[in-house]
Amino acid sequence: MSRSEEFFKLAQRTFVGGVNSPVRAFKAVGGTPIFFERARGAHLFDVDGQRYVDYVGSWGPMILGHAHPAVVKAAERALERGSSFGAPCPAELDLAWLVRDAVPSVELIRFTSSGTEACLSALRLARGFTGRKLIVKFAGCYHGHGDSLLVAAGSGALTLGQPTSQGVPEELARLTLVLPYNDPAALQKAFKKYGPKIAAVIVEPVVGNMGVVTPSAEFLEALDRLPRKNGALLIADEVMTGFRVALGGAQRALGLRPDLTTFGKIIGGGLPVGALGGARKIMEKLAPLGPVYQAGTLSGNPVAMAAGAATLTVLKREPPYKVLQDRTDSLTYGLRAIARRNRRDITVNAFGSMFTMFFTKGPVTDLASAEKADTRAYGKFFHGLRKRGVYFPPSQFEAAFVSAAHSPADIEKTLAAADAAFHEV
Ligand SMILES: *Cc1c(COP(=O)(O)O)cnc(C)c1O
Repeated sequence: MSRSEEFFKLAQRTFVGGVNSPVRAFKAVGGTPIFFERARGAHLFDVDGQRYVDYVGSWGPMILGHAHPAVVKAAERALERGSSFGAPCPAELDLAWLVRDAVPSVELIRFTSSGTEACLSALRLARGFTGRKLIVKFAGCYHGHGDSLLVAAGSGALTLGQPTSQGVPEELARLTLVLPYNDPAALQKAFKKYGPKIAAVIVEPVVGNMGVVTPSAEFLEALDRLPRKNGALLIADEVMTGFRVALGGAQRALGLRPDLTTFGKIIGGGLPVGALGGARKIMEKLAPLGPVYQAGTLSGNPVAMAAGAATLTVLKREPPYKVLQDRTDSLTYGLRAIARRNRRDITVNAFGSMFTMFFTKGPVTDLASAEKADTRAYGKFFHGLRKRGVYFPPSQFEAAFVSAAHSPADIEKTLAAADAAFHEV
């Protein structure tokens, strides 16, 4: 038995399903989760002494690679000065200004401890600001596990949502309208039918959470126009895309003008951070200025702020986005070529340094087309890579990430592993 297997046995007696977040359990690919001991640059090291080229990057935050010296130093220094004050500290301003500088739609900002908190606070704020109740979300988009947002199915354009998680009251789920992604006509219809009741449209401007799916020009145009025209707010959930696809996030890359934006992942540099920000007149509705309550014991935590600020400072001083694009291009072109040689139908969707290899002919433009992917084939491919020291997301429906620490040699090693893994699919 490997040490990972031993640890997993113990963990299953201690944690629900052996994990503290469900995807980590490998249910979607089979086998036993790998227990990691440490990470550096583009590499993870497991408890059995195996090294992996990492494409999970802690699900997005590690854009500079693991244990970047500037981030480690900043966090260590902050920790020495005290790990939490429960009161304002200058480090909050450092991070806030870095975010605001890069994302002009953010006039005021509020830090939280996770992306989930940021998204559910943004919904409460949108409802409080507009005095309306309905929320529009898109099937396949993930906005954390707040009750109103755990409504995902309901494929018919205007079907009122059904909770996909038990424990979400039907009464609440009914307030979330679920529409197909990339379907401007469905959005138009929703506004026609429910316009004056819709508080907000929340969207991943580039989706990572059904695998990577990019928005069409028509869909973007509808997102930009319809909420504003109908007095609803547009919430760009940039928890994944913020500082990932560009310094200014997806809204900058795509020319989207959201009223509110949520952040997480990269802005915490690998520590627990989230944020919501947007137009002053909306943000001022939050407590203590306004009537919408929102709070957090560890919000604006000095160690997390320091790690986040160090990360954004490196991103700003030495923007890696061009190199990230080149590396990701080499990888995705390579994967497509290998698939062709092996006569496999795959679709590789990518945006900046996020990508997903779907085991389907494609195109993949929404949840329905993503779900056509052969998840068993993906599972075999995943384990083929794992055996050869390459760690992909343990689910077909997740984004993979290239970091600034991935070298051309890492990409080559990955492509060689992919070639061998394809023979086993
Ligand atoms: C990860 C993610 C979240 C949730 O953030 P947590 O920090 O895991 O709570 C929300 N929205 C998007 C788009 C995400 O990728």
